[in-house]
Amino acid sequence: MKKTALLTVALVILGAAPTVARAQAEGSAFAVKAQPIVLHAARLFEVVPGRIVSPGEVLVEGDRIKAAGTSVPHPAGARVIDLGDRTLMPGLIDAHVHLFLHPAPPSEGMQTVDESAPQRTIQATLAAKADLMAGFTAERDMGTEGAGPADAAVRDAIDRGLIPGPRLRISGMAISILGGHEDAVGFNPAQHVLGNADYANDIEQLVETIREQHKEGSSFVKIYETGHDEMVPHGSAPCLGDPICAQLGIGEQAGDPEFWDFHTPYQYTEAQLRAAVAEAARLDTNVGVHCQGEPAARFAVEAGVASIDHATQLSAGTMELMKEKHIPAVPTFVVFQYFADHAPNAAAAAREHAMLQYKIHEFQRQVAAGIPMAVGSDVGPFPHGTQAEELELMVRYGMTPLAVLQADYLNDPRILTWQNEVGRLKAGYYADVVAVPGNPLKDITAVEHVQFVMKGGVVYKGAGSAAGD
Ligand SMILES: [Zn+2]
Repeated sequence: MKKTALLTVALVILGAAPTVARAQAEGSAFAVKAQPIVLHAARLFEVVPGRIVSPGEVLVEGDRIKAAGTSVPHPAGARVIDLGDRTLMPGLIDAHVHLFLHPAPPSEGMQTVDESAPQRTIQATLAAKADLMAGFTAERDMGTEGAGPADAAVRDAIDRGLIPGPRLRISGMAISILGGHEDAVGFNPAQHVLGNADYANDIEQLVETIREQHKEGSSFVKIYETGHDEMVPHGSAPCLGDPICAQLGIGEQAGDPEFWDFHTPYQYTEAQLRAAVAEAARLDTNVGVHCQGEPAARFAVEAGVASIDHATQLSAGTMELMKEKHIPAVPTFVVFQYFADHAPNAAAAAREHAMLQYKIHEFQRQVAAGIPMAVGSDVGPFPHGTQAEELELMVRYGMTPLAVLQADYLNDPRILTWQNEVGRLKAGYYADVVAVPGNPLKDITAVEHVQFVMKGGVVYKGAGSAAGD
C-alpha cells in the first residue's frame, strides 16, 4: 500500500501532471480535459475575514479554483482528496528569494565566482523544487547574482511543466552602481572579477539596462538602493550629519538616538529611481529595491517602488509615506538570523547579532507605526525550502499570526503583480493550495510543516498518503 502511494506521488510529480500542466500552459488543442478535484479537510483559512472555517472544501477545475468554503459542489466524476485533520490555505508566497544562491556560510561565499552559470542553473532548478515542496507556490526572485538572465530559463521550464517549481517573477540580474553593492570590490583589479549586478550609473544607463533585461526575459526590476551596511558608534549619527538627511527632515522625524546606530549609503538619487520606476511602469511592471536604511528609503518611497526590502531603518516620515502609498516593507529576518548564527568568529558574530537586535528594535517601531508589511525571506544564503521560518520570526518579533498571514497573502500578490490571481482560496484564482497540520492562527509554525501542495491544479505533494490509500 505504501509503495502504491509513493508511486502515485512520483507519477504526479514526474509524469502525468507536468503533461497536463504543459498542455494547459501551451493551450494545446490536445489538452487533457482535467478531472475536477475536490479538496476536503477539517479546516480552511479564509484570508480576508481572517478566520478559520470548518470543515473546508475547494473545488478545482483545470488550473483554477471554481469554488471554496465549508462545502462546494461535487461534480460527477470528481476526484475527492480528503486531507483529514489539516487546514487548507492558499499556497505560500515569498517576495524575496534567490534561486541561484545556496548556503555557503558565513555569507554567500565565493559561489558566484567559483561556479559556472550552467552549474548554478541546475542548482536553481533544485532550489525551485525545494521551495515548492515547502508550500511556496509563488515567488519573486530578486536577482541571479552573477548568472545573467538564466532565471528566465528556469521560469519558462516551470511554466511549461518541465520541472517543478513556484510560479515566478524574475529580475535577471539586480542593477547597481559601479563599485557599489555586490560589485567585485577588493579583488586584484588585473583579474577583472565580475560583479553580481548589471551596472547603471545614471538615468540613461538605468533605462538602457532595464530594456536589455526586459529583452532577456525579466518580469520586474531589482535595484540595489543601498550599499555597505554597518553598525556605528552610538550617537555618531552619520545621516544627521548628511545635508540630504537634513533637507528631508529625516533627522528631526527620527528623534530616537538609537535610530542612528546604523548607517548605509544610498546608491541612486530619487530622480534616478523615478526614471527607473517610470520605465518599469512603461513595461507594465515595477521596481523592487534592496534598501536597508535612510535616506535611501525615502528616495525609493518617493519614487514609488513596489516594496522596501530589508527595511532595517525607516524614519517616521518615510513610514508615513509608506502607509499613504501602500508600499510594504519586506523584513527578511531569516537571513539576518542565519548570518548571526553562522558567523566565522566571535567578532563577526557580535556584529551580526548587534545588527539583528537593531533590526528587531526597528521592526517593532515599524509595526507600531502600522506600515504595510510583506513576507520575503531572502532564501538562498540559507537552505531553500526552510524559509517558512520567516513567518514565525515576524510573529516572534511583534506581529500576530493573522497579520503575518494577511501580509503574505494580500500584500505579496500586489508586489508580484498577481493580485486577483494568487493569495486567496476564491473562485477564479489559481488553484495554488497547501494543507498544514493544526491551526496557523494559533500556532504560526504550522506553515513550516506543509503536507500537501497543489499548484495550478496539479498535485506535487501529499495526495497519495493523505488520501489514506
Ligand atoms: Zn536578496
